[in-house]
Amino acid sequence: MPDFCAAYGCSNEQLFTSLATFLIFLRFPKDSSLKREWELAVKREGFVATERSLLCSEHFKADDFDRTGQIVRLRHGVKPSVFNFPSHLQKVCVLFG
Ligand SMILES: [Zn+2]
Repeated sequence: MPDFCAAYGCSNEQLFTSLATFLIFLRFPKDSSLKREWELAVKREGFVATERSLLCSEHFKADDFDRTGQIVRLRHGVKPSVFNFPSHLQKVCVLFG
């Protein structure tokens, strides 16, 4: 079974990663407080990330990634901030912009 992005309204799945030019799937952080911040950023009611929960790179800003090395890494302590929320959630989204 393919792994799907946990973000609201995002249908990206890991199956297609190899086809996408820049789509990385990120596991939720092991650090519990940062993990909680990611869970809240996803804004899915009652959402609790598991070890298999993923977010695709579309939910992060370009600046959130460290591309200086051969492997593109997410900078330390970064939270996902780019989401396509339905209109009733958009106001809250401003807080993350
Ligand atoms: Zn996604």
